[in-house]
Amino acid sequence: MELNSPVSSLPLVGPVYARRLEKLDVVTIDDLLHHIPHKYLDFSLSSPVAYAQPGEILTIKGEVTSMKNLYTRYGKKIQVATVADKSGEITAVWFNQPYLVKNIFPGEMIALAGKVDWFSRKKALISPEYENLEGALKSLHTGRLVPIYPETARVSSKWIRGRVAFAYDAITERLDEFLPKELLEKNGFLGFKDAIYQVHFPDNLESAQKGRLRLAFDELLTFQLRSLYRKEEWKKNETVHKLAINKPLLDKFVNSLPFSLTQSQKTAMAEILNDLERKTPMNRLLEGDVGSGKTVVAAAAAFVSFVNGFSTVIMAPTQILAQQHFETLASIFDIFKVRVSLITSAGVTADLGKTDIFVGTHALIHKRVNFENVALVVIDEQHRFGVEQRAHLIKKTGKSTKSPHVLTMTATPIPRTVALTLYADLDLSTLRELPRGRVPITTWVVPPFKREAAYNWIKEKTANESVQAFVVCPLIEESEIETMACVKAATVEYQKLKIVFPKLELGLLHGRQSAKEKNEVLNSFRSGKTNILVSTPVIEVGIDVPNATIMVIEAAERFGLAQLHQLRGRIGRGEKKSYCLLFTESKTQNVRARLSALQRGLSGFELAELDLKLRGPGEMFGLRQHGFPDLKIASWQDIELIKKARELATQAVRNKKKFPKLIKRIQNPFVAPN
Ligand code: ADP
Ligand code: MG
Repeated sequence: MELNSPVSSLPLVGPVYARRLEKLDVVTIDDLLHHIPHKYLDFSLSSPVAYAQPGEILTIKGEVTSMKNLYTRYGKKIQVATVADKSGEITAVWFNQPYLVKNIFPGEMIALAGKVDWFSRKKALISPEYENLEGALKSLHTGRLVPIYPETARVSSKWIRGRVAFAYDAITERLDEFLPKELLEKNGFLGFKDAIYQVHFPDNLESAQKGRLRLAFDELLTFQLRSLYRKEEWKKNETVHKLAINKPLLDKFVNSLPFSLTQSQKTAMAEILNDLERKTPMNRLLEGDVGSGKTVVAAAAAFVSFVNGFSTVIMAPTQILAQQHFETLASIFDIFKVRVSLITSAGVTADLGKTDIFVGTHALIHKRVNFENVALVVIDEQHRFGVEQRAHLIKKTGKSTKSPHVLTMTATPIPRTVALTLYADLDLSTLRELPRGRVPITTWVVPPFKREAAYNWIKEKTANESVQAFVVCPLIEESEIETMACVKAATVEYQKLKIVFPKLELGLLHGRQSAKEKNEVLNSFRSGKTNILVSTPVIEVGIDVPNATIMVIEAAERFGLAQLHQLRGRIGRGEKKSYCLLFTESKTQNVRARLSALQRGLSGFELAELDLKLRGPGEMFGLRQHGFPDLKIASWQDIELIKKARELATQAVRNKKKFPKLIKRIQNPFVAPN
């Protein structure tokens, strides 16, 4: 057995169990050993049965003297055993597990672990873990700190414990250390073998924690090394079309814009232009808050491609965004006679044979478009696309080892440490400021007793100043895709608000509407015909209606701070003062404090850092929505650990010969760069 052998090489793991384990992302022995408990039950206290006291949690060992199913007065089945040791006898009770009589037999030696309580006026172990000691070498489920693992349907922790124990014994010899000894010593990390052992069979909670820390480091290290490998691979590419910068024409473009660029935009543009002139294709991430002006930076790059006689593909995650890009670009490029077309599942706007800039949704990938001439690919809100979708588009526009320049953009504010890890394969440009002249948004946290007043305020505002409002409905489930539950919630809210605002026109927007419906709803809001637009939270990006100056966010506590900040970016786009009302029913001090951070005028990046500190990343509606990939063992909050891992990863790719074991470990086919 090797670390990368499939789990089905273990006894008792056939195709059925292998498939169930896959749901836990456990495919290999390696994966199984890295399937880390999320908690431990402390069954380490052992006692003769006579001394077991009600309230204690402990392990007892003895001989089964009886075992039977009993029927209660109400027709329920309970299972009752008696177990004796030299000190006396104790009862054990289980509920509704009739099959236990086929596992526990009188005359056998058994260990039981659990809580002692009273049952029918006798001391008894209630629903204890049990373990047959006949022929067992060591206890797995009793008499120690017993691990509880992430489970899935018909894969219990108890079953996992058995397989982990078998795998560990079979593979110990091969758990070679792959980290440098000095690093282990300097950081007090456990060795690889020890760490795996302590996580599954801990001496105490502290050593379990130490084991976990070491494995968390490994996870972060692997993550970063993979990214750096991808970067190396990318650098082997050549650009599919050569570009030269025509400075005077570019200046003409910049001067034609209705505004002057911010300092950040200038810097980012310079970084991008610098990339475009090289032989190695660009692979850059442009990050910046909503409204920081990323589009025009991308447009400058597209302009360079155009001036060189090549075309550009711009992919956006939603129809609405694609449409908006299409309109923006068509308007700023009008005087240069750049031909822009829009490609979505709903159709194509122009003659693709004569297109310089293809704007579209993922329909771009599937439509039969001739991308021969594409020198640049821009992917907006890149975290909304899967790795495969991006790869597909890039491949479609490249040729074997030749690739177009790639610019990805995101408004997801990620703490810098995290960004450097997550996107270690990309070069990073950041827009740190918003264009001048924006009126800051005033944000209020609104408790239930002020809801009525808030609605009245909205009535007055919309009547007297003819401004418009968004109402964002609660997040129901953490999901990249809008679920039916979200749509339902929004529809209900829409009906409710129609009664609250009888004199106003309301619109409803959600992801299950057809493109045509969505467009109608949006056009009606844009033109001012609709006063209030009720929407699901998933449609969060890009809508640009300067007259919409009010945003209500329902159940605000369910969102991350950075996410709220992003949602809020839909208002404050015009000259008028904008207001964001965070509705929350939550009374906890914690929630109020967290939400009030949005009143302080922090940038998206600062809010992201803060959120990472305040909320556990594993929590509901957490980071996955922001496009963070899952870490299984480590956490994105472990900033120090992330830094250490990055240091080592960087050293190791620079000098592979110095770290042969580490490189080999990472190149293990099942942990290879993806
Ligand atoms: P985002 O980064 O969210 O994609 P956009 O590119 O959509 O932002 O820009 C938001 C708005 O700001 C647009 O209306 C755009 O025309 C405007 N804008 C961009 N750059 C500037 C600037 N330097 N000065 C003033 N307005 C700008
Ligand atoms: Mg944008």
